[in-house]
Amino acid sequence: MKRIGFIGTGVMGRSIVEHLLTNKFEVTVYNRTKKKTDDLIALGAVWKDSPKEVADESDVIFTMVGYPTDVESVYYGENALFQTDINGKLFIDLTTSTPSLAEKLYHTAVEKGGNALDAPVSGGDLGAKSGKLTIMVGGDEASFLEAEPILSLFSKTLERHGPAGSGQHTKMANQIMVAGTMTGMTEMLVYARKAGLDLEKVIRTLNGGAASNWSLANYGPRILKEDYSPGFFVKHFIKDLKIVLDEAEKMELTLPGTEKANELYNQLQDKGFENEGTQALIRLWWE
Ligand code: NAP
Repeated sequence: MKRIGFIGTGVMGRSIVEHLLTNKFEVTVYNRTKKKTDDLIALGAVWKDSPKEVADESDVIFTMVGYPTDVESVYYGENALFQTDINGKLFIDLTTSTPSLAEKLYHTAVEKGGNALDAPVSGGDLGAKSGKLTIMVGGDEASFLEAEPILSLFSKTLERHGPAGSGQHTKMANQIMVAGTMTGMTEMLVYARKAGLDLEKVIRTLNGGAASNWSLANYGPRILKEDYSPGFFVKHFIKDLKIVLDEAEKMELTLPGTEKANELYNQLQDKGFENEGTQALIRLWWE
């Protein structure tokens, strides 16, 4: 059985490690804030003092940190993953990051005798908890086949989209869609409330028709309970929208709907809500 390493036990990583432990894998963990691994250690995970020490003890190493800069530091910084002998090891970055960094990780890993996949996910904190994430993979077919049995333990949709970077490009396509569903759901609720409708009933009805979508089904009820906890951090969505718009610019594309969503989420951040979940967008109208 492969030995697993896991760096980044936040909202998403923590639940994924739980699935790996439930499936009897030996898992070593590292997180910037050690306290966030306490529950996992109680469940049988083993703490290591640095990413390098995690890699020393593992065959397959997952990373699920916040930003591309975090990914850089975990792979290339002090006591980083790539400072160990990585021959034969497989690195899987689940972080939503840039396609160019995914390519860089892949090339470094291959030069050193290892391999790497970019495998960003969709499905939120609830998808991670239930083990039903969607995973979009970029990298070599052989590495994908090696990773598939492990990734299947916490996903329901799992697909390879092409060479290194393709997973991140697919995730950007996903985020363009989510920008539309989040702004659409928010404006729908603002309108429905002003029209004096029963919002619970509206959400229930719309979920059965052509307007149904994941954001509405999962975040609509949270908004009605005024639950703005993450979920998916506003600050991370802003990170993703910037990556989308930067990539679109490189492709000489304009995406006005995504630009508007980016503007709205930046307004929300300026109001101090960057650590809330993305459903907090409604606060631009309701507060
Ligand atoms: P999170 O709760 O902030 O988790 C990230 C974890 O990585 C934190 O525990 C953080 O440590 C740790 N970390 C960051 N830099 C590190 C470093 N240099 N060394 C070690 N640990 C480090 O965020 P999340 O919601 O799990 O999201 C993780 C990634 O998945 C993001 O890229 C996000 O965009 C993406 N994503 C999230 C969702 C979602 O719904 N939440 C869905 C799909 C994709 P600290 O505890 O010290 O902050």
